[in-house]
Amino acid sequence: MERVRDVSELPKAHLHLHFTGSMRPTTLLELADKYGVRLPDALTSGEPPKLRATDERGWFRFQRLYDAARSCLREPEDIQRLVREAAEEDLKDGSGWLEIQVDPTSYAPRLGGLLPALEIILDAVETAIRETGLGMRVLVAANRMKHPLEARTLARLAVRYQDRGVVGFGLSNDERRGMARDFDRAFAIARDGGLLSAPHGGELTGPSSVRDCLDDLHATRIGHGVRAAEDPRLLRRLADRGVTCEVCPASNVALGVYEKPEDVPLRTLFEAGVPMALGADDPLLFGSRLAAQYEIARHHHGFTDEELAELARQSVRGSAAPQDVQAALLSGVDDWLSGPAA
Ligand SMILES: [Zn+2]
Repeated sequence: MERVRDVSELPKAHLHLHFTGSMRPTTLLELADKYGVRLPDALTSGEPPKLRATDERGWFRFQRLYDAARSCLREPEDIQRLVREAAEEDLKDGSGWLEIQVDPTSYAPRLGGLLPALEIILDAVETAIRETGLGMRVLVAANRMKHPLEARTLARLAVRYQDRGVVGFGLSNDERRGMARDFDRAFAIARDGGLLSAPHGGELTGPSSVRDCLDDLHATRIGHGVRAAEDPRLLRRLADRGVTCEVCPASNVALGVYEKPEDVPLRTLFEAGVPMALGADDPLLFGSRLAAQYEIARHHHGFTDEELAELARQSVRGSAAPQDVQAALLSGVDDWLSGPAA
């Protein structure tokens, strides 16, 4: 019989997880208590909030909730806790490698400035690696709602901190604002410095935003990218170039990009040969973590254990993990598959 192996034991890499969004809901409540922050009801009800980010008001509401949660991270010990718990949650879900994404600018005011903020974050990652054993790295992400010059500063900083665990440069927030090419200089700085290019695209806007990421930012990975499914030629291009799409099914449904889990075009991308790395995006707001994304592939898209193993391999190959780490994870995937299916 198929479909009975535990996906939380399937070794995989997690390439799309935002910093504050990775927080445990219980930790958010404790931190809010610690600082006397009154959280919006949507963050305290114990149920993932209903969001409709396909219109700008819905996206704004999502950002406001995110900001409220972020405002509870005020001291280095809060950052240490967040990162350690993100690593623990990932390990529980079978992750062997986590790349967490952060815009240090938005933490800078409470942590003493941009440099101290990034240092505190990278220290926390080093500690979490040591304490949990999970391989972990950082993507520094610029905010496309801000001025491209800020993104350049961030790219230079990201390059400078490469030996401290920064592996890539991203671009997040509302795809409907600004053009990818406004950020081409920042991405050139990041790429020339040896970082991988992993902007968000093809989530809130269609295939053209994915093309822009490829043409203007020379993306080697795309955050989301699911809307590429609307353009067969683009799918071929992604497949030919081996550009990994960091697909986050639960997020897509929570934000209204797709109505139901079965509408997320996992099959279309998979059959087209586009490598995918399933990710949780913001578990705090969307209510599910990494293994749950593989469950969606299994239950809503009929992925067999062989196919789930292939998804896991794609996540590993799309990661910035060193060769020996990748090899160990890939052989773990084979072991999972050859193990008992009961
Ligand atoms: Zn994202």
